[in-house]
Amino acid sequence: MSSAHSPSSVRWKDITHPTATQTRHDQHGRYPQAATVEDFRHNIAAVQARIAAACRRVGRDPAGVRLLPVSKTKPESSLRLAYAAGCRLLGENKVQEAYRKWEAMQDLNDLKWSVIGHLQTNKAKLVARFASEFQALDSLRVAEALDRRLQAEGRSLDVFVQVNTSGEASKYGLVPEDVQGFMAQLPAYSALRVRGLMTLALFSAEAERVRQCFILLRNLRDKLRQNAPAGIGLDELSMGMSGDFEIAIEEGATVVRVGQAIFGARPLPDSHYWPAAIDIDPEEPS
Ligand SMILES: *Cc1c(COP(=O)(O)O)cnc(C)c1O
Repeated sequence: MSSAHSPSSVRWKDITHPTATQTRHDQHGRYPQAATVEDFRHNIAAVQARIAAACRRVGRDPAGVRLLPVSKTKPESSLRLAYAAGCRLLGENKVQEAYRKWEAMQDLNDLKWSVIGHLQTNKAKLVARFASEFQALDSLRVAEALDRRLQAEGRSLDVFVQVNTSGEASKYGLVPEDVQGFMAQLPAYSALRVRGLMTLALFSAEAERVRQCFILLRNLRDKLRQNAPAGIGLDELSMGMSGDFEIAIEEGATVVRVGQAIFGARPLPDSHYWPAAIDIDPEEPS
């Protein structure tokens, strides 16, 4: 007898797929500013608690999710407070800004930097000098430029390959079909330690459409892992930001990049600072 006929049966969808989780993109730009070490401690603890809750919903260990605080647009004073609250790795999306901050904070010698935004080849030199991680690799020209500069510096760099999972022309990243061929070329660049894939989901209040972007990245990672070139790591999935990291975790994120929920809203709208972003309005059909 099929349990599907029992009126008390739980629907399959309810137990395997926590579709109830919503995005928080409606909070975008409204997060209060973190102004003290206490504020940072509080915000980080709150984000960690949400990470743990999302992990519990899908039976994951929270130790398998790394929180990357994103400090872009924030002044050095804010970054110092975040450091005092325990942050030792900060994400920045503009290379020159990140480099300037790195130079100004040399006294914090255990503070590391992750560059999470699109890179032009002429700025590879800067990244090679100070970054410990680069999450937006999307062309062989950039891989080549980074590798050459890293070799010269005697350094290596953890990298994530950025994938465009939303299909939006405004977003950077490789189209999913091109990732396998791209990966096959990367062993040639021995200073790059490939860790996994990164994506920005559709910037939308429609949770299901956002979730589809994360599912696409995970499925792609799983497929590529089956015949990954030697030395190419494909364990990491960097996906999810303030508005959608819980959904990303439910779909397998190992790194979440969270800015505003820790630092507070950014002074300028993302459309100014982050050209790929579109302002969202859940009321407005896209
Ligand atoms: C700014 C940024 C984030 C974080 O966005 P928040 O809304 O501040 O959490 C994540 N990823 C990338 C690539 C970014 O540029």
